[in-house]
Amino acid sequence: MAVLLLLWAVSVPAEAQRFDVARLGSDPVPADVLSGAAEDGFVPMPATAGQAAIVERERGISWWRITARDALPPEAGQSLVLHFPYMNSIQAWRPGDALPVRASLVGADADLSHSARAHFIPLPDGLDAGESVYVRFHCVTPMRVALSVEGMREAHRRDLTYVGWRVGVLSTTLVLAVLVFGFWVGIGERTYLYLMMALLGQVLYLVSTGGDLRAFPSLAGVLGPDLRASRLFALAAFISSNSFMSYYLDLANRQPRVNRILVSCSLAALGLILWSVFSVSGLIPTLANAVVLVAIAAVVWAMGVAVVKRQSGALLLVFAMLPLVSMVAIRAAVRLELMRMPEWLDYLYPAGFMMSGLIVTIGLTGKMHQLRRDRDHASHMASYDALTGAHSRPVIESHLRNAVVEAHASGMPLSVVFFDIDNFKRINDQYGHRVGDDCLKLVSLRTQNRLRTYDQIGRYGGDEMIVVLPDTALKEAIGVAENLRSAVNCRPIAIDQLQLDVTLSLGVAQLVPDESAESLLERADAALYASKSAGRDQVTGHIRPMLQAATAPSR
Ligand code: GH3
Ligand code: MG
Repeated sequence: MAVLLLLWAVSVPAEAQRFDVARLGSDPVPADVLSGAAEDGFVPMPATAGQAAIVERERGISWWRITARDALPPEAGQSLVLHFPYMNSIQAWRPGDALPVRASLVGADADLSHSARAHFIPLPDGLDAGESVYVRFHCVTPMRVALSVEGMREAHRRDLTYVGWRVGVLSTTLVLAVLVFGFWVGIGERTYLYLMMALLGQVLYLVSTGGDLRAFPSLAGVLGPDLRASRLFALAAFISSNSFMSYYLDLANRQPRVNRILVSCSLAALGLILWSVFSVSGLIPTLANAVVLVAIAAVVWAMGVAVVKRQSGALLLVFAMLPLVSMVAIRAAVRLELMRMPEWLDYLYPAGFMMSGLIVTIGLTGKMHQLRRDRDHASHMASYDALTGAHSRPVIESHLRNAVVEAHASGMPLSVVFFDIDNFKRINDQYGHRVGDDCLKLVSLRTQNRLRTYDQIGRYGGDEMIVVLPDTALKEAIGVAENLRSAVNCRPIAIDQLQLDVTLSLGVAQLVPDESAESLLERADAALYASKSAGRDQVTGHIRPMLQAATAPSR
């Protein structure tokens, strides 16, 4: 709806044709044209769709005679308007003018009192019927330039719409490019880099051909009239979009033939741009547009195949790309003169690109969430033991090393409990591995429930577990170990129809000054061994590092 309203707001009024237009292909001295000496050379040009227009197909200089069909009454602020000038500049002689009105998008002849949407030739005195304005047209980009007459209020209203629209669209696209750049830096996935380059290339292309930079003469001087810069931006945008498509849809693996077509199109575009550095052949833009059309056809095909095969993200891409692809296709078709230029295209073309960028960025945000979920899942899988839900061995060892460093630094106590299920092999042998697994799971659950939130438990291997108890001295740690022991032996473990009496043997040790994590663990292990030797189902505290498992077995 908003788009329709905008189309209504910006469409050039379908007024009756006011002018007859004739073209002179040569470039005589202006005096000859103005005196009527060159009159015979002017060839009348047919209007398209009832609207007079300068339709120049060749680069270089041509003259145009714009003759009023009916009298145009005088009106202050009224102008003859040449819509969408691109980099083409003009000199215009109104009846009686000795010196021309000069207009160009950038540079000294730029008219900064109007937007860059058109060239304005002031006609405050109007024109009599049959009177002509002569325009010397310097064509850099072959294009259809529509002619109309606008009063001051109308011209300003359209200027404001154009500037607002242009600023909104270009800055949104630029913000998207920055955002996507951030994604690329954060995630390092190449899809984001290609998307960023495509967005940026497109903004630079639009800005360099649209005259938006003319308020900054030094920038406009570099980017404006020199079409090589804008071609380079267009090339960067084109190659990046192709690469983005290829990566996003994984064409190299899934549709290698289409991928080859896209790569060939990118290479062909590169070749044409290089050719254009040395040559002004009219064949170059035609071939370039043909290459764009082939790439579009390949992309549309690839998206279609991806949708049919229900490839993830394909539908989003179709949704995102269709407006842009249609705009680019229409633009290329206009250049190839397969159709006439719709007036709204210059508004919707950048907007199409912005919309595509927006939808793809939103889509990629979803992909980013998925990546994060996958990463979190993978890191959870790596950090936790799948069977017991306790920390995996490397993680609990790393927790222990950190806790040792902290305890040495703070002087707070640190203890470790090492425990092992008694005669676990027997359970496996008697009831099978599955019952053994369930038993291990339930022992782990029961013990975990007895721990404080800041205690860490991990599976050391087989039926052995380690518990790291920060801020806990040996006496208190033996209490915790007793608690773990009773959590398991307090009542039988029920698995299927079985009631299994399971017990634990536990060893406890407290960190002593300058002791390493390995040594602390060895002492806890030695204490566990002592518990096993003393008949199992008990806790042993290792009191001094120098003592061989000085024991205080308890039952
Ligand atoms: P002890 O009282 O001396 O500890 O006797 P034990 O039978 O428990 O002997 P030990 O701790 O040395 O043996 C551990 C057994 O645990 C050996 C292995 O078959 C079993 N085991 C290790 N990992 C798993 C596991 O993931 N699932 C099951 N079901 N059994 C396991
Ligand atoms: Mg055991």
